[in-house]
Amino acid sequence: MVASEVRALFAVASRPEVVSLAGGMPNVAALPLDQIGELVRDVVAEEGPAALQYGSAQGDPVLREQICDYMTLEGITASPDDVIVTVGSQQALDLITRVFVDPGDVVLCEAPTYVTAINTFSAFQAEIRHVAMDGDGVVPEELDEALTRAAREGRRVKFFYTVPNFQNPAGITMTAERRARVLEICERHDVLVVEDNPYGLLRYDGEAQPTLYSQGSGNVIYLGSLSKTLSPGLRIGWALAPAPVRAKLVLAAESAMLSHSTFNQLVVRRYLRTFPWREQIKAFNTMYGERRDAMLGALEAMMPAGCTWTRPEGGFFVWATLPEGIDAKAMLPRAVAERVAYVPGTGFFADGRGRADMRLSFCYPTPEQIREGVRRLVGAIEGELDLRDTFGSTLAPPTEGSQAPAPDLP
Ligand code: PMP
Repeated sequence: MVASEVRALFAVASRPEVVSLAGGMPNVAALPLDQIGELVRDVVAEEGPAALQYGSAQGDPVLREQICDYMTLEGITASPDDVIVTVGSQQALDLITRVFVDPGDVVLCEAPTYVTAINTFSAFQAEIRHVAMDGDGVVPEELDEALTRAAREGRRVKFFYTVPNFQNPAGITMTAERRARVLEICERHDVLVVEDNPYGLLRYDGEAQPTLYSQGSGNVIYLGSLSKTLSPGLRIGWALAPAPVRAKLVLAAESAMLSHSTFNQLVVRRYLRTFPWREQIKAFNTMYGERRDAMLGALEAMMPAGCTWTRPEGGFFVWATLPEGIDAKAMLPRAVAERVAYVPGTGFFADGRGRADMRLSFCYPTPEQIREGVRRLVGAIEGELDLRDTFGSTLAPPTEGSQAPAPDLP
């Protein structure tokens, strides 16, 4: 396990004068906090002894029923027996890796992929192999080739990890056609798919795509979370898994933490029972949609020639690529001096790629702050362009073969 090299810079970046386009923190201040306060008080008043007691490692049965109801919005029909509540979907990633991965096993991930998934897979000594993406999601031929190559080498691929909706960090959504092909390929190679979908309901335009889980035939583990649609502080996520897998995940969860926070589960249970949570998700979508538009508008208006970026239909992130010869990590101190922060792309690859890339998040700052942040970012890029034009490339020499230390940001 390695700490992020850019951690010290992020300490500076969290100062109030810096516009942070770096973190992925949901804007929980938009929740009606007084009503949530009342709800918490009611849990203590009406269910105090139960709320303060141990619970099970699989999670509260009523909450698991409510999670099944929630998942119908994603087109998933599931039984509460197949759901295991987890401490955010992050714990589900940890449990799945713990159960499936032996040192040296191969895990396939999109390129780029979610930074903390890289950290988790690396902690269990998986060999992470990236599979290329384009604007429609992972490239099926590349996935097939990666699986064929691993088989030829006699290597065990334990699963393919994907974030199909508004991917963190790339903002890309996998098309329905691609989803069908991914399932066909993984089934043919007898490999599990881990479908991580914390952002699926945060869609600002376009059509919802079917989940891989609902189209698959038993080889998909689905991960959900209330972190982005309610609160990450309550730490409620879940895995939906075929029965034999679910049983092992429950055993692993028991040894990791004995029982969930009964209290948090009862708070969420009451929230889902008494609160107009579907309306709350719509309100989040209106707010985040405005922020997404502010970022895309500002990038369109201000970014220098040679920069490219993705146009997410939902979620929190835009992935931007800098002009030829500019290194996003080398540029970060200059950006922080300009009072803007972002996450350099290298953190989202296990193999040192991503030097020209950066992740820009639009979930936390206001639209005005986003526009100002992009203006400052453009100032930093123009400074680097001057440097490049005077001295040549600002790209650091490649760090071939090393697993890049990743920034530990959500
Ligand atoms: N997966 C992805 C793709 C994420 O972006 C995040 C949070 N940033 C998580 C999993 C973990 O979220 P949580 O544990 O809060 O559910």
